[in-house]
This record gives sequence, structure tokens and C-alpha cells, in this order.
Amino acid sequence: MTSPDVLIVGAGFSGMYMIHKLRQAGISALAVEAAPEVGGTWYHNRYPGCRCDVESMQYSFSFSEELRNEWNWSELYSPQPEILRYANWVADKLVLRSSIVLNTRVASARWQPEKANWLVTSQDGRAWEPRFVVMATGCLTVPRMPDIPGAETFKGRLLHTADWPKEPVDVRGKRVGLIGTGSSGVQAATTLAPQAGHFSVFQRTPAYSVPAHNRPLTDAERQDFRDRFAELDVWARSSKSAMLTGPAKHAAMDVSPEERERILWEAWEKGGAFHLTATFTDVRKSEAANRVVADFVRERIREKVKDPVKAELLCPRDMIATRRICVDTGYFEIFNRDNVSLVDVASDAIVEITPKGLKLASGVEHELDILITATGYDAMTGAILAVDFAGENGLSMRDAWADGPRTYLGLTISGFPNLFIITGPGSPSALTNLIRSIEHHVEWITDCITDMRAHSDRRPARGAGRLGRACERGRRQHPLHQGTVVVHGP
Ligand code: NAP
Repeated sequence: MTSPDVLIVGAGFSGMYMIHKLRQAGISALAVEAAPEVGGTWYHNRYPGCRCDVESMQYSFSFSEELRNEWNWSELYSPQPEILRYANWVADKLVLRSSIVLNTRVASARWQPEKANWLVTSQDGRAWEPRFVVMATGCLTVPRMPDIPGAETFKGRLLHTADWPKEPVDVRGKRVGLIGTGSSGVQAATTLAPQAGHFSVFQRTPAYSVPAHNRPLTDAERQDFRDRFAELDVWARSSKSAMLTGPAKHAAMDVSPEERERILWEAWEKGGAFHLTATFTDVRKSEAANRVVADFVRERIREKVKDPVKAELLCPRDMIATRRICVDTGYFEIFNRDNVSLVDVASDAIVEITPKGLKLASGVEHELDILITATGYDAMTGAILAVDFAGENGLSMRDAWADGPRTYLGLTISGFPNLFIITGPGSPSALTNLIRSIEHHVEWITDCITDMRAHSDRRPARGAGRLGRACERGRRQHPLHQGTVVVHGP
């Protein structure tokens, strides 16, 4: 068995950049990927309408001038097939494929204190003994089915947005139902509703969704981004969301009502969610400021949806930006179509999936040919807990996280030496432009491993000594990661 210095679990954007950085540092790396292709979440999420909610030029690797200059995004917001093509292009461009094992799911990882390394095994019985393991498994990986009994009895077709078939699903003339109105549900509904015979959205919580104002990108726009990259990079790296929006200049109540409207309309016309949350300094801090933005979005929904009863049902009641805001291209407009129904399952809950469709608490049954679940993921922790970890003294991850996930900045976990996570629980990850967070994490981890290799031998250290010092050095270089080192290990 030839073992790499670092075994990486996953070959999405995180895993691919991790291989590249480690190679540059002269450290051998192997990525083990369950899917038959690279791309991670962009491989699995191929439901109709799937598209990034961050502008394409920003949702790209920033670390390589060559990559930045050679890839031409076609639209302001990229569709999933183009992002997957980009992932494959990066894999070829950086010659990563020789360091990736596909179709292989990591099953377990056991810390071997006597060897100061990990024994990693795959479901198909292969094994590696790397000194370091990096979980590049993504924070939205394990699909979550709705907690509704009877799915196995459904005679129609049951689909999950995160596990969409490769071949097209023909919804023409079919009665299609959708559970879930987060980003995935909003995008899938917008694309599929006009094609379906009848499309029913079973809504429990209405989503804040704002228009993308998506359009083709021009050569001039792409060139302008490249020309200004140095300046934009400083901006993105110093912004909390790693996005090129804001910073806001004023608190919402410090400006006149007319000025508030003007600022909100300006952000709305730019499109996307991040401009809207960067309108005022206190959108996430002051209830009054939050209400200003939320009311503005609700007004836009009322303008778009002709039936006032439906419009009110579609207006979210909670605060805005407590969840990631959805970005759409005509979502609310689908509810003006005759073939689209909005079913309020907050007041009349779905109690059962039946052979024919969905049964509500009132006893009403909705008959369906296709049921789409857009019910999200076992987010953040799902893919990590799916691996049977045994850390120091056989500690399992489930026990370590019995009271919820505890990590050092979402990067390392006490009791699991030489184990790193990219965009793990507690990290900025899903609140940001993820590809930028991935870059920060990968660079921090590479620095940390490089430093550990330079300053330690293979004997386990006592306490938080060497890794702690290495992490401190890494922390100083990456302003997004501020905190105290709590990890132990060699
Ligand atoms: P999600 O945000 O977790 O939404 C799940 C939806 O399913 C919610 O509307 C939820 O309602 C509903 N649901 C769950 N169980 C239900 C039940 N029993 N009855 C009725 N409704 C039920 O999932 P997601 O849309 O897949 O998004 C997950 C993450 O991926 C988000 O962070 C999102 O930003 C990200 N994402 C990003 C993009 C993009 O870049 N454009 C695309 C897709 C997803 P409740 O709210 O009432 O629980």
C-alpha cells in the first residue's frame, strides 16, 4: 500500500485546490471521491434550473492568474452544467486527475497513535495510511428527505433535487408536486412549472427571494474584472462575506425615507442577494433596519403576484437574511400561471406520502405523478459523520459532537489529531462566497501542515504544542480565521 502524506476526502473545489496547494508545497496528496466525476456539489446538484447565487466572475478560483484569464463565463450567474465544465477544466489544467481516485467512498478513518498516522479505509476495502486527513466533503452533501411517512408507497416518481438523474425528467403533461421552497426548490419550480401539466408547490415557509437580473456577460465586463483584479481581491479578502458588495455607508434609520428607498432600489436593480444585505450597516443588527429591507422585498412580491391571497402567502414573515436569501429568475411570476397551485402546508401540514400523492392533515389528498423533494441536506456535519471516525482513545465523531459540532474555526476538531475540515461547521462557509472561503481554508491548512512537518518529528506531541504553534502562525496570515487554538496532536 502506497500512502500519500495527506489523504483528501472529496474532489470538489475544496479537494482539487487542496491537491494543488499541497503539491506546490512538496507534500504528496491523494483525493478519494465517491462520485464518478470531480465537481462535488456541482456534480450531484443537476436539477433543472440549478445555478449559482454568486456572480460567476466572483465564483471562480482567484489564486491563479492563468485560470482567471483563460476561462470565460458566459453569464452573470452560471448554470450548473457550466460550473461542472469549469471544475473539469480546472482538473485538467492543473493536471490533478492523477491524484484523484474516483468512484470510491471513504468508510472509516482510525487514528493510529503508535504510528502517528491515520488508517483510512474505503467501502470497497482499500486502505491508506496518511499522516494527515483533510475532509473536503462540502457542507451540503448528504441529501435530507422530508420527515413524512409513506415515501416507499408512492407509485409515481420520487426525486430529490440533490440526487437528480442524469437523463432529463419529462414533466410535460404530468402532475408534479414540490416540497421545499429554499434555493433548490425556488430554482427547480421556476424552471419546471412552465413545462409541467400541473405544478403544485407545497410551501411550509415562504422564502425571501430576489431577482438575479441574470444576463450574458460581455468581453468588456470580463476584461474589466481581470484588469481590476488586484483591487477587487483586496476588497473580497477584507469583506466578511468574501463578496464584492458594500461596505454599507449608513445605518438604515440615519438616512431619510427617500434615501432609504433609493439605496434599496439601487441594490435591487443590481440583482442578487448580497447587494441587498449590504444596503445598510445594521441590516443584521437592528430589527428596524431589517424590517425596512424585509418590507421592501415583500412589496416587490406583492407587485409580482396578481392574486393578493397567494401574494400574502408567498410573503415571508420572519426577518430577512437570517437564512441565505434565494436568488431567482421569475420565481414569483410562476404563481400567475393557471397550471401552478400554491398549497399552504404551514396551516395544513403534509402528514403522509400515499401511493397516489400527498395527504394533508385536513384529509385532502393531492394526486401526483412526480414528487420532487427540495428539502435540503444534513448540512455541515452530515458528510463528516458519514465516515466512521475513531480519534484519540477511539473517540468517535458522534460522541465528540454529541452536544453539537465543536471545532476550532471549523478547521480542526479536538481529539482528532492531524485531521482538517474545509468549510466545516463553525466556519464562515455557507454565509459567504464559498469558493473564497475554500481558498482561505486550503491555504491555512497547507501552511499548518507545512509548518508541522518542518517543526515536528513523528512522535506525538504533548498537549497543544506543535500544532497549536503552527495554527497560530497560520492564523496570523489569514484574517478570516481569528481565534484560539484548541487542537492537540503531533
Ligand atoms: P433548504 O434551504 O434546507 O430548504 C429546505 C426546504 O424544505 C425548506 O423550505 C423547508 O421548509 C422544506 N421542508 C423540509 N421538510 C418539509 C416538510 N416536511 N414539509 C414541508 N416543507 C418541508 O434546502 P435547499 O434549498 O436545498 O438549500 C440548501 C442550501 O444550499 C442553502 O444554504 C442554499 O443557499 C444552498 N443552495 C444554493 C444554491 C445556489 O447557489 N443557487 C442552490 C441551491 C441550494 P422549512 O423552512 O419550513 O423547514
